[in-house]
Amino acid sequence: MLSSLRFGASRIGRFVADLIYPPSCSACGAALVDAEGLCPACWRAMPFVTRPYCDRYGTPLPVEHGSLLVSPLAIADPPVFGHARGVARYDGVARELVHGLKYGDRPELAPMMARWMVREGQDILGKASLVMPVPMHWTRLFRRKFNQAAALAHAIGQETGLPVDCDSLRRVRRTRPQVGLTRPERAANLQKAFHVSETTRFRVQDAKIVLVDDVMTTAATGNAAARALLKAGAASVDLLVFALVAKGG
Ligand SMILES: [Zn+2]
Repeated sequence: MLSSLRFGASRIGRFVADLIYPPSCSACGAALVDAEGLCPACWRAMPFVTRPYCDRYGTPLPVEHGSLLVSPLAIADPPVFGHARGVARYDGVARELVHGLKYGDRPELAPMMARWMVREGQDILGKASLVMPVPMHWTRLFRRKFNQAAALAHAIGQETGLPVDCDSLRRVRRTRPQVGLTRPERAANLQKAFHVSETTRFRVQDAKIVLVDDVMTTAATGNAAARALLKAGAASVDLLVFALVAKGG
């Protein structure tokens, strides 16, 4: 009786909320009949990463790649982290969602994006012991007031039950924005940008870490963060992002 009353109350609450905030597409704002998410048109336009993809970088591979599981890039220049997984290519609807979360004051996008990330990152999350966002330098965080990677990491923690650690990995050097830099320039820009402090090192030691970020562009950030975590004693570091730039695969 009580549970059915509660169920009824939550249904009424939902009905009232829908009147005030009618469900709409998270990307284009089109009205939806029920629930939140994407409208059919945006869903079809989402550049989801599908198999085959590179086992190391997570980037899509041409179908004619056959049974090869890694990209030529992963053979020529293997990443420091173990495996990267991404939901979509950084393009179109996926880019709009990333921008909405990052600049548009839309933190409500994080749970939806995180659910997709959990689905896509099943293999790396299944063996993980700790989730960590890629940290922002405090000056940037101060200006922006919101770290989208931390919002995604928290939502992934809620979805999976894995602990989330936002403190142990620090961005100690302010790096200039990576946009427009070449691959070697990005790596140099990020040299020693991340650090695990002595006081929090015990949390990282022997941990199987999944690093979370919104976008992977060249993997330079993921590599630099993974290097700092492995140096601090992490057993493994994988990378889970919402969107990845699919070039060089
Ligand atoms: Zn839409």
